[in-house]
Amino acid sequence: RSADYAPAVVIGSGYGASVAALRLAEAGVDTLVLEMGRLWNTPGPDGKVFCSTGAPDHRSMWFRGRTEAPLATFLWLDVVNKDITPYPGVLDRVAHPDMAVYVGRGVGGGSLVNGGMAVTPPRSYLTEVLPQIDAARMYDTYFPRARAALGVNTVDPAWFESTKWYRFSRISRRHARHAGLRTVFVPSVYDFAHMEREASGQAPKSALAGEVIYGNNHGKRSLDKTYLAAALGTGRVVIATGCRARSIRREPDGSYVVTADRTDDSGRTVETREVGCARLFLGAGSLGTAELLVRARETGTLPGLDDEVGRGWGHNGNVMTARANHLWDTVGACQATMPALGIDDWANPACPVFAEVAPLPMGFEHWISLYLAITRNPERGVLRYDAAADAVRLDWRREQNQPSVSAAKSLFDRINRANVTIYRYDLFGGNRAFADDFTYHPLGGCVLGRATDDFGRVKGYPGLYVTDGSLIPGSIGVNPFLTITALAERNMERILAVDLAGG
Ligand code: FAD
Repeated sequence: RSADYAPAVVIGSGYGASVAALRLAEAGVDTLVLEMGRLWNTPGPDGKVFCSTGAPDHRSMWFRGRTEAPLATFLWLDVVNKDITPYPGVLDRVAHPDMAVYVGRGVGGGSLVNGGMAVTPPRSYLTEVLPQIDAARMYDTYFPRARAALGVNTVDPAWFESTKWYRFSRISRRHARHAGLRTVFVPSVYDFAHMEREASGQAPKSALAGEVIYGNNHGKRSLDKTYLAAALGTGRVVIATGCRARSIRREPDGSYVVTADRTDDSGRTVETREVGCARLFLGAGSLGTAELLVRARETGTLPGLDDEVGRGWGHNGNVMTARANHLWDTVGACQATMPALGIDDWANPACPVFAEVAPLPMGFEHWISLYLAITRNPERGVLRYDAAADAVRLDWRREQNQPSVSAAKSLFDRINRANVTIYRYDLFGGNRAFADDFTYHPLGGCVLGRATDDFGRVKGYPGLYVTDGSLIPGSIGVNPFLTITALAERNMERILAVDLAGG
């Protein structure tokens, strides 16, 4: 057991945490970041840092004996998942009874494994979800700041129209248009200029080599290359990897102490650290942050936490579905792993849906159009403490997905009718056309203005802040990381100006 002190500690290293670390350091505050995953910068024996989705190995998943990919089967066959050696791999699937949550593990959090889509939500919906924030400032200042710092770019339309790598998107666009639906290009943090060089053989392939959910070896501007690189460049940030924060308490002088386990590659705890700090920023992601706070309230280490802690959780209405195309509508054996197109039917008053046209790069023609639908679902879950297991469980029941499945079905029934096509039932297990048992977009659990004040300061605990996706009340209508980043920028600006003014 060792004891340390840092003026500021940040738990996690995803979007919200990275913004906090950079802005604290720029303001002159020495900051220690605790991240339970690895730093992904060392090539394995194959010369690569990450493995591909087609040939997953120990690097793919967080301490598993077998991969747990979201698309479990093909033609009902268990051909997708592979046996692997347990290791602190980059993608985790946190399984709660009726909902599995995919999250990134490592320095950069979700940015290491995600699809890179950097989408700005419609202003009217942001205002509805977070009415207390000044929308004009968000759209004029914080979204542009976040886009610039994350390195957001868009695909060259001429290249998109001509390349075989986006044939799958063009087919889906045509089918959406037949149904009278609008499609939009989605900005990305994947460098499209790099992707073009991949296509022309001038750069090593990554998005064009099936790399995405287990990490990208090239082209992706993940947080370790953007915010965190800048944070480390200040000389004021230290990132401790393999360090899982387990509990938080407050000392009589008002400082905080984080107890963290440092684990080795086998998952064994090799050291337990206690780190004291004047200011503690929670950026462990929706589930991670809510778990730390719910446990602290229920075990009495932070007994005054608000009843709202653990509430307002949602999956951003995620539902995955797939359609079978006609034989003449080939989607191509070559598919870029980074989505570049979305079907935008969010303005539909009956069933708003924003559906990402998702790739399914299997290396052969399969005639499948795959989509991740983001729907508007008013249902919310609760994170509760299970004292016997010292664990936090997500109370979310399967039937709460019904509004999401109905909305997705309404949109894709329309597309199927217009194109005389049908759903695929062989991909998600259980002969289902809609995969509603997992999410990529966990949000909420420590909602802005309820569990915290309007800037992420935890109610009742001065010096304790929440800075990640747990602030957003369960739904944001588009892929969430740009909003998480912009909101963290907004909150940090205020916190640094007010709480840390004068040192
Ligand atoms: P995270 O990015 O989840 O970071 C939390 C970090 O904290 C992790 O590194 C974790 O290891 C660490 N941590 C957790 N608990 C502890 C602890 N107790 N101690 C120490 N460290 C801890 N969003 C988009 O906008 N566009 C996309 O295209 C997109 N695609 C996605 C694809 C996949 C496969 C997945 C899984 C997600 C995708 N997302 C996408 C979602 C996006 O990645 C998340 O919304 C985002 O990463 C959440 O940011 P965050 O700051 O809340 O926390």
